[in-house]
Amino acid sequence: MHEMSLAEGVLQLIEDAARQQKFAKVVTVWLEIGQLSGVEVEAMRFCFDAVVRDSIAQGARLEIMALPGVGWCMACSMSVPMAEVFGECPHCGGYQLQVTGGTEMRLKELEVD
Ligand SMILES: [Zn+2]
Repeated sequence: MHEMSLAEGVLQLIEDAARQQKFAKVVTVWLEIGQLSGVEVEAMRFCFDAVVRDSIAQGARLEIMALPGVGWCMACSMSVPMAEVFGECPHCGGYQLQVTGGTEMRLKELEVD
């Protein structure tokens, strides 16, 4: 499950921020997860709860926002929404799509005490 290492990466970012901004408790964590990132939201929640145990973010609420997938269709010469990495173009039905967005996961914001 690669969500575990991703969750550890998020905790690392939180702890770095805590050192820099000198806060001692995290109330809410906002994570953006791209629809094409391959990250399972439920698995992410599970792993996050596991890694933050006994950390500064213990008990923090995890808010997950989905970033829509976006691709470039060569046939249509336009950006189109994509629901899956190897999906088809909703306009022409073709598969000449290049993924241009929605593959990332990032820590968007922290609410701290
Ligand atoms: Zn198309």
